[in-house]
Amino acid sequence: MNKDRKGYIQIYCGNGKGKTTAALGLSLRTLLSGGSVYFAQFCKGSETAEMGLCSIFENFVMEQYGTGKFIVSDPSEEDRKQARQGFEHCKNVLSSGFFDLVVLDEIILSVFYQLITVEEIISMLRTRKPWVEVVLTGRKAPRELIEAADLVTEMKKVKHYFDAGVKARRGIEF
Ligand code: ATP
Ligand code: MG
Repeated sequence: MNKDRKGYIQIYCGNGKGKTTAALGLSLRTLLSGGSVYFAQFCKGSETAEMGLCSIFENFVMEQYGTGKFIVSDPSEEDRKQARQGFEHCKNVLSSGFFDLVVLDEIILSVFYQLITVEEIISMLRTRKPWVEVVLTGRKAPRELIEAADLVTEMKKVKHYFDAGVKARRGIEF
């Protein structure tokens, strides 16, 4: 861990494919350069191929804070509970400064579902150790989060096979 560097806040948002994939790509780059990664998956509680990274890299930790594949409509009480637990844990991870890169995958969706507020996320980001790089992903990024970030990339959907009825596939989407 290089405590002399400055860590930035990145957001990958938008309705095109590539947000989680980009966060995973960045994670690999950090790991392969000797860094450590904490990867939290909000709104998700099902097996993904990327979990396999935990057994390959000892500096990679992935935890899920959701139920099922993802929330489609009203979040359940259990979804709410898990999101809150995840948020509290991520707060500790960020303020400990133990990981070089912290990914908060789909945390933006948990704001949309009112499981976590934007204000809570912004104050959590402020309490992180300055060398920690943070990535937040999810479709509908609120303006306040965009303003708090240093880098925002919007994945723009030009075409998506989801609209033609192609469901998520293992090895491609999960
Ligand atoms: P990837 O993980 O492939 O990089 P992503 O992180 O950009 O994708 P998410 O917003 O996390 O995309 O999408 C999760 C899943 O939702 C996708 O795997 C896809 O099957 C499905 N999906 C894609 N487009 C839509 C849509 N318009 N409405 C609902 N679900 C969609
Ligand atoms: Mg995603």
